[in-house]
Amino acid sequence: MASGGDERVEGRGPGLQTTAVHAGTDARQPHAALQVPIYQTATYTFRDTAELTAFMSGEVERMEYGRYGNPTQRAAEEKIAALEGAQDALLFGSGMAAVTTTLLTLLRQGQHVVLTDDCYRRTRQFCRQVLGRLGVEVSVVPADDLAALEAALRPETRVLVTESPTNPYLKVVDIPALAALKKGRSFKIVIDATFATPVNQRPLTQGADLVVHSATKYLGGHNDLLAGVIAGAAPLVQGIRELQAILGGVLDPHAAWLLIRGLKTLPLRVRQQNETAMRLARRLASHPKVDEVFYPGLETHATHEVARRLMSGFGGVVSFTLRADLEATGRFIDAVRIPRIGPSLGGVETLIEQVALMSYFELTTEERLAVGIRDSLVRLSVGLEDADDLEADLLQALEAL
Ligand code: PLP
Repeated sequence: MASGGDERVEGRGPGLQTTAVHAGTDARQPHAALQVPIYQTATYTFRDTAELTAFMSGEVERMEYGRYGNPTQRAAEEKIAALEGAQDALLFGSGMAAVTTTLLTLLRQGQHVVLTDDCYRRTRQFCRQVLGRLGVEVSVVPADDLAALEAALRPETRVLVTESPTNPYLKVVDIPALAALKKGRSFKIVIDATFATPVNQRPLTQGADLVVHSATKYLGGHNDLLAGVIAGAAPLVQGIRELQAILGGVLDPHAAWLLIRGLKTLPLRVRQQNETAMRLARRLASHPKVDEVFYPGLETHATHEVARRLMSGFGGVVSFTLRADLEATGRFIDAVRIPRIGPSLGGVETLIEQVALMSYFELTTEERLAVGIRDSLVRLSVGLEDADDLEADLLQALEAL
């Protein structure tokens, strides 16, 4: 398996958990407070015209107006940049604001984007519907088919965007192999690594140009905030920051503060979630009422070899199909006691969803099958409850099937 976990973020230097606790927030705070304050302000004032003129002419760097940044947000961004090994990071009010602002920065009319199929539905909708309307052509290819990805590239391709691991089948994309395709071409690789987190994988060190997260998920980690983030080389991030100033998808200072608090325990949480998810995946795979388990840590997973090479942990989400129809799968979901039914993932509470109903309700069974979603597909986002309790709960619900 790829090194990670206790690995130093940049070869030497502090470990990941030390970075999570201290990076970005160690500067001396007002009143020598240990914690970064919540700068709950919309605007910042100038002492006099001379100060304003100095700022406008670029002589001094400082805050100006909430849509252009906030000190609490900045502290969170520095922490995430340090965790990703990135030059810079930029926060947004949601993961979708991060995805859409990034793609709108990188693409214009007449250009082409390659998108993988097994991705968050709203990202796919944005590419097909919104980018399509703006004159950007979109090709959708299977996430685990490198030959198809290469074949989809055109001279006007400017972006290849994929999740890794993907949602809901958790396919891990061979980022170094994608990066090798950049030779002689001019496209950027954007990886939505929401499911991986910088604890399990740092795509920027493997050839990606930008990494995106729905920070609503593992980075925040407590199912109590919405946020998105991108990280990468400073000039790329700066271009996206300039469009964010126009589009306005910024993060509230209070949410930034909650995010800082969540980030401090990210490595601890994710390592625990990796361990519990691996155990549950194995147990489910050996159960007669379970048809198939999709977890990159299992030898049977389509991209297990890639995951072993690129990831240091396999994540906290397990997808599986039951030997059951739509209704019986619903009864299984209703019989579990600890996991709560809800969209989202990555928090301390285990969440469960029947994908056919949560994300594809309006389709018929046949239409769902055509987009690769079986009625009995279940997505489980493993939280921080005791693994023994979660295992016993899933087993009793399977018995009820
Ligand atoms: N990317 C992935 C992989 C997601 O799962 C989600 C949301 O479920 C998003 C992006 C969008 O994030 P948000 O809900 O924070 O806008």
